[in-house]
Amino acid sequence: MSQVHNYYEYDYKTKTIKLKNKRCPRCGSIMGHYKEPTERWYCGSCGYTEFLEKKS
Ligand SMILES: [Zn+2]
Repeated sequence: MSQVHNYYEYDYKTKTIKLKNKRCPRCGSIMGHYKEPTERWYCGSCGYTEFLEKKS
């Protein structure tokens, strides 16, 4: 599942990981990122949810 890396962008100046905007494949809206209880992308417009799998 190396595709997960495409969601992140590492900023070497501030040493933080930024999330890229991800568009909903269903309606095209910008999806929100949530870490609890499970890391996932959620579209507030149509309710589409995409879960991220951890590498561990
Ligand atoms: Zn949507």
